[in-house]
Amino acid sequence: SEFTTVDLNELLRDTIILLDHQFRTAQIRVETNLDPQLARIHGNPGKLQQVILNLMLNAKDAMFGMNNAMLRVATFNGPGRVFVRIQDTGAGIEREHLNRIYDPFFTTKTKPQDGAHKGTGLGLAVSYGIIQEHAGKIHVESEVGVGTAFQLEFPASATRP
Ligand code: ADP
Ligand code: MG
Repeated sequence: SEFTTVDLNELLRDTIILLDHQFRTAQIRVETNLDPQLARIHGNPGKLQQVILNLMLNAKDAMFGMNNAMLRVATFNGPGRVFVRIQDTGAGIEREHLNRIYDPFFTTKTKPQDGAHKGTGLGLAVSYGIIQEHAGKIHVESEVGVGTAFQLEFPASATRP
């Protein structure tokens, strides 16, 4: 398979750099709190970066045009586990949508306006599949008008970094 040892901190940093111009243009501040002792995981770096990119672009969309927009990215270890948290101060997800966001083609981005774009509704569906392939979990907490936090959890790699 294309699985190898992956440093999620490195993937997160690379993705933040990739999106730096978009974050600046949208006046989104990025705050990172990456555990320097983070355990490695076993995975496909390209696919994992796709997940991170999807979550960060969704956060950016959710904060479109807002003041004091902030993206917080954190990593930490648990017993045999590695956690990634991607949190925004965006519009939030309505309660009745929470159990549909992973459905293919579910999107609330229906009308392109003011630089926002139409959604495909595939980002989270694809991400969910990728996380499953990595024996991981995805968990969301959201409050309308406050923001959203996605948390990813993966088994730590048995091999030492
Ligand atoms: P798309 O981004 O193309 O709409 P996704 O599968 O990435 O599709 O997301 C599905 C839907 O989940 C979005 O349209 C949006 O309603 C909701 N969503 C996802 N992430 C966030 C977020 N960070 N804040 C608010 N809503 C979100
Ligand atoms: Mg998306």
